[in-house]
Amino acid sequence: MSVQVYVAGKLVPKEEAVVSVFDHGLLYGDGVFEGIRIYGGKVFLEQEHIDRLYESARAIRLDVPLTPKDMIQAVRDTVAANGIENGYVRLVITRGAGTLGIDPQRTSNPQVIIIADTISLYPQELYDNGLALVTASTIRNHSGALSPRIKSLNYLNNIMAKLEGKDAGTMEALMLNHNGEVAECTGDNIFIVKNGVLKTPPPEAGILEGITRNAVMKLAVEAGVEVRESTMVRHDIYTADECFLTGTAAEVIAVVSLDGRVIGDGKPGPVTKDLLERFRALTQG
Ligand code: PMP
Repeated sequence: MSVQVYVAGKLVPKEEAVVSVFDHGLLYGDGVFEGIRIYGGKVFLEQEHIDRLYESARAIRLDVPLTPKDMIQAVRDTVAANGIENGYVRLVITRGAGTLGIDPQRTSNPQVIIIADTISLYPQELYDNGLALVTASTIRNHSGALSPRIKSLNYLNNIMAKLEGKDAGTMEALMLNHNGEVAECTGDNIFIVKNGVLKTPPPEAGILEGITRNAVMKLAVEAGVEVRESTMVRHDIYTADECFLTGTAAEVIAVVSLDGRVIGDGKPGPVTKDLLERFRALTQG
């Protein structure tokens, strides 16, 4: 069975799933998106992703051509049409085709694109032993310029930092904000554990407020762990007992070094392992 992609209001074989070269999503990165996991054939944290999608759209003054209810149905239909049991959905909304100028008022027909696929994960070895990170010199977008809370189609900020990580031989890179505080990684949120307290930067630090981040914070509270959103600098990570990342693709993955400093005892820590287990249980729920 060929892969079916939702575009222009219907499911079509992927070879026929096309948008205009005049679409401002392509020309200017003018649009928003979501990445969502499918576990056991079900859309994981569906409402949370739909809410964030519509919030991102609202923030860039993009009118989504479907109601949230119809969007949810379109996502479910796309997953079912492709028989995806465990996989990933990419949901994209573009501004639509327009002129070659940036003016969004000269575009029409915002496009909703839904792709359901399998997912490529970090290698198991990294879950067992943890990731190394470096700090990128590329800072996270200043929220006064473009709020990192918008999951927009313009990911160049993160892409530049990702390349720095790859240059250094790491699969992720830490991004600071314009104040030199810890923000997040290029596609994942960051947490530390210090003296039994779980800490993560607040949304005001200039982060994408991850759905996985929020789910893990809830799980930690349920597990009786004290959770704080707090401003942090790299020193806090260098001297943490544990560190881990969260993301739709990554789930929960330990970080064992940053900029050549070993974190804790250099192995995935007990709180990290417990939260990964709890998170996996949630995905199977
Ligand atoms: N930060 C950034 C910059 C991201 O792109 C993502 C999503 N890949 C995350 C954090 C994690 O967010 P979520 O848990 O919603 O996937």
